[in-house]
This record gives sequence, structure tokens and C-alpha cells, in this order.
Amino acid sequence: MKFGRLAGPGAVRLDEQPEPVPGAGEVTVRLAACGVCGTDLEKLRGNYRTAGILGHEPVGRIAVVGAGVSELAEGDRVFAHHHVPCYACEVCARGDYTFCPTYSATNLDPGGFAEVFRVPAANVSRHAVLRLDDRVDWSTGALLEPAGCALTALRRMGLPDGATVLVLGLGPVGLLYARLAKALGAAWVGATEISARRRDAGLRGGLDAVVDPRDPGAVRSAVDGATRGQGVDLAVAATGHPAVVRSAVELVRRGGTVNLFGLPEAGSRLDVDLQQLYLRGVRVLPSYATTEPDLREVHRLVAEGRLPVGDLVTHRVPLDRLEEAFRLAGRPEDAVKVVVTGPAF
Ligand SMILES: [Zn+2]
Ligand SMILES: [Zn+2]
Repeated sequence: MKFGRLAGPGAVRLDEQPEPVPGAGEVTVRLAACGVCGTDLEKLRGNYRTAGILGHEPVGRIAVVGAGVSELAEGDRVFAHHHVPCYACEVCARGDYTFCPTYSATNLDPGGFAEVFRVPAANVSRHAVLRLDDRVDWSTGALLEPAGCALTALRRMGLPDGATVLVLGLGPVGLLYARLAKALGAAWVGATEISARRRDAGLRGGLDAVVDPRDPGAVRSAVDGATRGQGVDLAVAATGHPAVVRSAVELVRRGGTVNLFGLPEAGSRLDVDLQQLYLRGVRVLPSYATTEPDLREVHRLVAEGRLPVGDLVTHRVPLDRLEEAFRLAGRPEDAVKVVVTGPAF
């Protein structure tokens, strides 16, 4: 079977290997679709210090069920989450599941960009394989993982009644975050984005203001207009660029929260006026990845039509053309979300 892997700096390549066989407690999944994530692009650029496994937003049909697995059957339409926490360590006991040391050590084999991939027993037994509702099509299913990350972040930040939220950077996950904040009752959700195509996607999703950040005056006046000059309750840095985090710090209200949500490049440094942070009481809070309960919740919101996501998928590219999918995903003017399709699509 074919699968995609990193092949040196800046290169992704299709390779061949035998189809994986599920061991006891495991399943294999025949790929229908898997989104290309910004973190996949970062891995390609060599800027992400984790294992170089590509593809973590996959949906497909159960191919083979290993011994002892009773809740899943061949042919089931599923989403498979690549990471699961241990639920036993001190980090998990405090509820910080995505920061559990076991969490990022778990993964799909050989990754989500594979005709067939194996889901380890830990993921299966901890309910990381979610059966898809009939109303959730393959492309939509491929957005569950990033939508789950947005929900986990919003829960971690808290969304007070009448909240004002500014999302800086409308990549696919920034768009999902902004739409989710709106769906969960934020009073005003604004966004900044350079790409016209992605600004359109923001406006289509019902955001209250979408501004080009190359005009800082326009951003400031949108925020001031919505908050009587106070600044937003929650500013979300949905790209990892330090300059974006700095803007977020400037646009949040006194006592407000800045969410470090986009993946920063390894080794990048933040240069902000610490006294301003201190005197204005700004909380800077990271959020990374998502958990099974939050994935189930966004799955419900998507199935019930409360979180519109389907229009965000602008390109479906077959696994055979994986390199093209990566090139497209790196061109914000041309693409919003790029989804790689597999044999079960
Ligand atoms: Zn992702
Ligand atoms: Zn743990």
C-alpha cells in the first residue's frame, strides 16, 4: 500500500509498504480523507520538534478488527484520534490531558496519509476511535480534530457571558475557532487575516468583523468599536508568529486572556513589554491539541448543524498527489482547507 512520509527537509514522499495488520486490541482503518494541518507543513519545514509522523485528522472505514475488540466492526465509518493520554499520571489527574507525557508519544502507524493505517490498542481502549454520524460526510469528518482543538482551547480559556473574541489568523483552525466561539455564544467575534480568500470564509461563517492586519488602524478601530475602547476579553494567536502574539497582547482588555493557539516555530522568542503585561493583568495561556470528550462534543455540534464547517474544505486531492496537496495547503491565497482522499472516499 502507499503512504506519505517526510523525506528530508522540505520533502514529502509517497512510499510503499505492506498493509499493517492489527494486533490484539487494535484495528486498521482504510483511509477516506485526512486533512493537511499547519503542523504537517511545519514538520516539512523542519520547525516542529516532535516525531515526524504526518497526518492526524483521518476518517475512514474499519478494515480489520484485532482480537478482543468488540465495539467496532469492519466497515464502520470512523474518525481515529492519533493521541491519547494515560489517564493515570499526575498531569492527567489535574485534567491537563493533552500535556500528559504519554499523549504525544501515542500515534497512528504509519500516520494518517496512508491507504490503511493501524490504530494502537491504547487508542482503541481509550475510545479514540469515534463512529461517525450519518450526517457527517468524509470531508467534514476530516475537520473534527482541528475543531476539537478549538473547543479544548475555548474550555481552557473560558468564555464569559457576552464575551468579545478576536482571532488573529484565519487558517483552517483559526476559522474553526472563530465559528465555534460564535456557536457557543460569544457576543462579538472578530478576526484578522491577510488572505482575501480566508477573510471571505470568515465573513461567510457569520463573524462580526474580519480585517486585514496590514492596516493596524482598522484592527484597532474594529476592536475599539466592539468593546468601547476596552479591548477584547479573549485574543487568540492562531498563528505561532511572535508578532501576532504581540498584537494579541495589545488588543486584549485589562485582565483579559491571550491564547497561544498556533504552533510557534521551534526556538522562536517572544518580545513583549513585561511591565505592560504585569500592570494590565493579561493572562497568556497556551492550548495544545484536544481530548476525546471534546472531540465527541464537536462531532455532535457538527452533526446537528450548529457548527458549520463543510464549506472550509476547498480542495480534495487524492493520496497519489500528496505533494500537490502539501503545496496547495501552503498557499493561503488559493486554499482554505486541503483534504487528502484515500481508497475509502
Ligand atoms: Zn492538526
Ligand atoms: Zn497521563
